Amino acid sequence: MTLENLSFTRQSTQQLTAVPVSVAYGDGIGPEIMEASLRVLAAAGARLDIEEVSLGEQVYLAGHGAGIPPESWDSLRRTKVFYKAPITTPQGGGFKSLNVTVRKSLGLFANVRPCRGLAPAIATKHPDMDLVIIRENEEDLYAGIEHRQTDDVYQCLKLITRPGCEKIVRYAFDYARAHGRRKVSCFTKDNIMKLTDGLFHRVFDEVRTEYPEIESDHWIVDIGAARLATVPEQFDVVVMPNLYGDILSDVALELTGSVGLGASSNIGAHGAMFEAIHGSAPTLAGQDKANPTGLLIAGAMMLDHVGQGDVAARVRNAWLRTLEDGVHTADVHGEASVGPAVGTRAFADAVIARLGEEPRRFKPVRASSAVVPVYAPKPAPKADKQMVGVDVFVHFDGTTDALVQRVEAAAGNPLLRLQMITNRGVKVWPNGLPETSCTDHWRCRFICREGACFNRVMMLELLRHLHYAGVDFVKTEGLYTFDGEPGFSLGQGQ
Ligand code: NAD
Repeated sequence: MTLENLSFTRQSTQQLTAVPVSVAYGDGIGPEIMEASLRVLAAAGARLDIEEVSLGEQVYLAGHGAGIPPESWDSLRRTKVFYKAPITTPQGGGFKSLNVTVRKSLGLFANVRPCRGLAPAIATKHPDMDLVIIRENEEDLYAGIEHRQTDDVYQCLKLITRPGCEKIVRYAFDYARAHGRRKVSCFTKDNIMKLTDGLFHRVFDEVRTEYPEIESDHWIVDIGAARLATVPEQFDVVVMPNLYGDILSDVALELTGSVGLGASSNIGAHGAMFEAIHGSAPTLAGQDKANPTGLLIAGAMMLDHVGQGDVAARVRNAWLRTLEDGVHTADVHGEASVGPAVGTRAFADAVIARLGEEPRRFKPVRASSAVVPVYAPKPAPKADKQMVGVDVFVHFDGTTDALVQRVEAAAGNPLLRLQMITNRGVKVWPNGLPETSCTDHWRCRFICREGACFNRVMMLELLRHLHYAGVDFVKTEGLYTFDGEPGFSLGQGQ
C-alpha cells in the first residue's frame, strides 16, 4: 500500500460523505486488502465517511492486553459500523482475542458467513453449494473462563443461555425469511451435552414452529459436519453454537476454493462489524499477493447494512465478472484463469474497470433491501429454584477408596449423603471399574437424604468439615432443581 493510494481512498470516500464507518487497516496482509477494498467501494460510489481506528498487534505490544485503545472504542460506539481488516494476535500469554472482545463487548451476537461455490470461475468440487452459516458469537466456550485446578486438570467453562439461543435461532429463521431461503438446519452435540447444547436444540425446536414456511432439521454436529464437508449443496442456512460455527465455517469456505474468499458480518442490536473470515496471513504480508475478496465482499455486506444495496450490487456484479473473465489471485488461480495470477492491487483495478458491468454466466446480483430484525428476548418467567445438594470438586492424589473414606468421614451431617464420586465425569464410586484411569481431579456429589432440605449453610458446614479433614476442594457447584426438574447432569457422558 502506498500513502498516495491511501489518501486517494480516504479523500474520495469522504467527498461523498454519508455514513460514518470506523475502519481498521489491521496487520499482515490487512493494510493491502483494506486499501484495495476501499478503493473498489469508493469507485463504486459508496457514500462512507471513514474514521480510521488503531488496533491490533502494535496496540497489543504497546501494553493494551485487549489490542484496542479507548479512543478506538469511542469511534466504534459512535459510528456503530466497523469495517475491520484481519489482525495478528501476538503469541504467548496475556493477549486476549480482539475479535472475541469486540464481538462480545458490542453485543454482536450473530456471525453471518455466506459460503458459495463460484464454479466454473473458481474450481470447486461443489459448484452448487450456496449456504450461509449463522454462528452464535457471544457464548459457548468463548467466555474465556478457564482455570487450572489441579496438577493434572484444566477446565474451560461452556456457557449457553436461553436469551442467547433465542436471539441467534430467531436471527437464523428471520435471515432465511428475509433472503428467500428455504431451510434452516441446526447443529449441536446434545446427545452428550444435554443441558447446554440441549437448550440450543430445544429453543430451535420451539422457534421453528413459528416459521412453518421454512423447512428445518437438526443434526448431531459430527454427522452434520461430515455431510457439510461432502454434500454441502444439501444445506441452506445452518445455525450453530459458537465453536462449531467457527470451525465449520472455515471448512465450508475452504470447499468454495480458498479461505481468501470468505466474508462475514457480525450483527448486534447496537452495531455491526464486517470482516474477512481469514487471518492476517503474515507470510503473504507486503507482497501484493493476497486475495482481497473476503474483505471486499464484507464491504458489500456493510453497504447492504447501511442502506446502500445498489452500490453493493454494483460491487458484487463487477467482482463476479472479474472472476468470470479469469482474473484471479494466486490462491484461486487454476484452469479457468486467463494469464498469470494477479496481485492484490491489480485484482482491485480489474474489479474497478468492470464496475457497471454484469456477469454473463453467474446470475447478476440485484440490490437487496432485505432487513433481518434483531430480536430482543423477553425475560423468562422465574422458576421455582430449590437447592438439593452440591458437587464438590477435589484435588486428591490417591485411590478412590482412600478418597471415599476421607470425605465420608468428614461429611458429618446425617441429612446428607455422598451419592457418587466421578473422575473426569466417569463414575468411580460406587460400583466403579478398576480399568478406569483416574486423574487427581474428583467430583464428590453430596445430596440431601429423602425428605430433607439442603441449603447454603449446610454446604458451608460441609466445606468446613472437608477443610479440617484435609480435603483440598477446588470448586463447588450447587445442585438445583428448577420447577422440579434437575438443573444438573445426572450421569456420565456417552
Ligand atoms: P490465516 O487465515 O491468516 O492464514 C491461513 C492460510 O490461508 C495461510 O496459508 C494464508 O496464506 C492463507 N490466506 C489467508 N488469507 C488469504 C488471502 N486473503 N489470500 C490468499 N491466501 C490467504 O490464518 P493463521 O495463519 O492461522 O493466522 C495468522 C494470524 O491471523 C494469527 O495471528 C491469528 O491470530 C490471526 N487471525 C486473525 C483473524 C481476524 O482478525 N479476524 C482471524 C483468524 C486469524
